[in-house]
Amino acid sequence: MSYSNLSWFLDAKHGLYFRNGIPLMLNDSEVRFEECNCEVCKGMMPQEIIDLMFNHKEAGFRILVLHNLLDMQRTFQKERLKRK
Ligand SMILES: [Zn+2]
Repeated sequence: MSYSNLSWFLDAKHGLYFRNGIPLMLNDSEVRFEECNCEVCKGMMPQEIIDLMFNHKEAGFRILVLHNLLDMQRTFQKERLKRK
């Protein structure tokens, strides 16, 4: 798996939401109503990002992109710690 690509960004464009490095659809029943406490979401659920995108496409997309980026970074750091 490569972390140097822009998948976290491209996947957000397709409405994909990362959780522990795994992309899921925003409306996937596994994550849809699960609050995320990252610095970007601050307790928002994917469903709320969907609602936000509906009203303010750019604002919703921005949160999704940054959430994905943070999730990738966290996953990457965990992987690095494991290898030590
Ligand atoms: Zn988040």
